[in-house]
Amino acid sequence: MKFATKAIHAGQEPDSATGAIMTPIYQTSTYVQAAPGKHLGFEYSRTHNPTRKALENNIAALENGKYGLCFGSGMAAEDAVIKLLEPGDEVISTNDLYGGTYRMFTKIFAKYGIKFHFTPMSDVENVKKLINAHTRLIWVETPTNPMLNIIDIEAIVSLAKKNNIRVAVDNTFASPYLQLPLNLGADIAVHSVTKYLGGHSDVVMGALVCNDGSLAEQLYFIQNSCGGVPSPHDCFLVLRGIKTLHVRMERHCDNAKKVAEYLVSHPAVGKVNYPGLKEHPNHAVAKKQMKDFGGMVSFTLKENKIEKAVKVLSKFKIFSLAESLGGVESLCGHPATMTHASIPKEEREKTGVVDSLIRLSVGIEDADDLTDDLKQALNQ
Ligand SMILES: *Cc1c(COP(=O)(O)O)cnc(C)c1O
Repeated sequence: MKFATKAIHAGQEPDSATGAIMTPIYQTSTYVQAAPGKHLGFEYSRTHNPTRKALENNIAALENGKYGLCFGSGMAAEDAVIKLLEPGDEVISTNDLYGGTYRMFTKIFAKYGIKFHFTPMSDVENVKKLINAHTRLIWVETPTNPMLNIIDIEAIVSLAKKNNIRVAVDNTFASPYLQLPLNLGADIAVHSVTKYLGGHSDVVMGALVCNDGSLAEQLYFIQNSCGGVPSPHDCFLVLRGIKTLHVRMERHCDNAKKVAEYLVSHPAVGKVNYPGLKEHPNHAVAKKQMKDFGGMVSFTLKENKIEKAVKVLSKFKIFSLAESLGGVESLCGHPATMTHASIPKEEREKTGVVDSLIRLSVGIEDADDLTDDLKQALNQ
């Protein structure tokens, strides 16, 4: 089955009791048993829920994986991955990553004796240097947030396999429509479903997909033991959102391309970060591992000052100033004071998150209206 068909149908059957075409919201905590232990496969909704199961199977199918697990947020999904590890284990992570991930690694898990290394992963040699006998996991996020660097998943996987290390890829920015980490050899695909999968800025959720049965068993055990599961109603909303994922992603990519090209031409703009631009340092890798270049664009102003960025951000009429991304509506953000405020200034500046950096989540509105909005904001 091809992607568009899976997006609409995978994991979902008409309801056997009524024929309802939409998967019902099984808003229930428990399930009646005919006799102790005699049940229909469902006992308690932390462990299993039919609406969640449909969504988990759907997302697994989209990622070309066998096993899907949904969590109450992207962070809860990431938390489950790190709980596979033990004190003394080491993780190599990209240094240019989602601020919340950096915070969880350094402020929560470091104190349990897990050691995290952060390095620019666009150059695989940097990763090689950090591998030792304790390395258990390589954490990849590509395209990265907010610099839109691209990490070569196949190159990381080949290095990891030689050393018996697992690879997790945060696939939030690309979505499975544009990039399939498991096909490239990664062990776990990670999502903040909140973003493109949900697609309508109305749900916070996370997901993991993998192919290995024993890894899946460990993750299900963590999911059930720690309990970071989403509600049946949210699962329903995401099942509905995913039905248009392929259509939305195509428009996100087309619009982002136009926005990036417009920004390149604007005299007040410094650097434009978009993997679809030929000048992008990792354009070739993006072309190799992604179907298109996504809906995220970031740029700096020639005058690299917080006040200048704040002024531009406050002038937007269509781009709304808000955290998050991946919804149908265009959003803008200021990483230095918003999503990346939890990363120390010197750390974030090393990765390019300077004071004037502005991040755009390009929505699926009319592209001319979006470039007009940029024009009026930048020309003030
Ligand atoms: C938003 C985001 C997360 C965290 O997901 P939540 O659903 O907000 O918990 C993780 N990684 C990336 C790349 C994100 O954009």
